Amino acid sequence: MSSRSHPLESIRARIAAVCARVGRDPASVRLVAVSKTRSPEEIRVVAARGQTLFAENRVQEARDKIPLIADPSLDWHLIGPLQRNKVKTAVEIFSMIHSVDSFELAGEISRRMEPIRPMPVLMQVNVGREPQKSGVAPEEALEMARAWASLPGIQLQGLMTIPPFCDEAEEARPWFRQLAGLRDAIEAAGIDGVSMRELSMGMSLDFEVAVEEGATLVRIGSALFAAA
Ligand SMILES: *Cc1c(COP(=O)(O)O)cnc(C)c1O
Repeated sequence: MSSRSHPLESIRARIAAVCARVGRDPASVRLVAVSKTRSPEEIRVVAARGQTLFAENRVQEARDKIPLIADPSLDWHLIGPLQRNKVKTAVEIFSMIHSVDSFELAGEISRRMEPIRPMPVLMQVNVGREPQKSGVAPEEALEMARAWASLPGIQLQGLMTIPPFCDEAEEARPWFRQLAGLRDAIEAAGIDGVSMRELSMGMSLDFEVAVEEGATLVRIGSALFAAA
């Protein structure tokens, strides 16, 4: 394959351009390469371009695939639903879990991690209150954060959302803004041990709007792995 521009470079350039426009440090936005359904070969191509942070949405798929990639320099996040019986495996694979949405799940992760180190987690918030989507209801997020703060084996570091489907990136803005406001409110509550630095929001079609609204982790799959 030639060294012609890869989507990774154009996505990075677009993130940097948004940061320049809104006065953010580009280092404050991390690109999360969403590699679900992608083969080890496809993932290696992106890793060879310097991308080290990847995310999967299924524990099983990640467990089977990551050993085949055999690159210990890569860092893996979980962004999909986590069943309690998969927590033991998940905490061995992932360095951050974006999709924690209940006290029971947070407690299970804590129990598995407690003697080792706290697991960095994000609280998934269902901003659109869509019945088919996981996530804590926005009005419950603050109390949930207080409850999680008492669990020794997790460290709440921010919020994540998958907003209602939008045809236009601009339509996602109010949802991103809502998540950022919720993050600010939890931070302002000054809960011991909770530092809400991360906002995981924005995907292939709307990541620029998400960065404008404060995203620190943008989860990009199709735009990155699209045929180069
Ligand atoms: C698949 C997925 C993404 C990436 O979506 P694209 O539109 O392909 O960029 C982001 N977040 C989650 C939770 C996903 O499951």
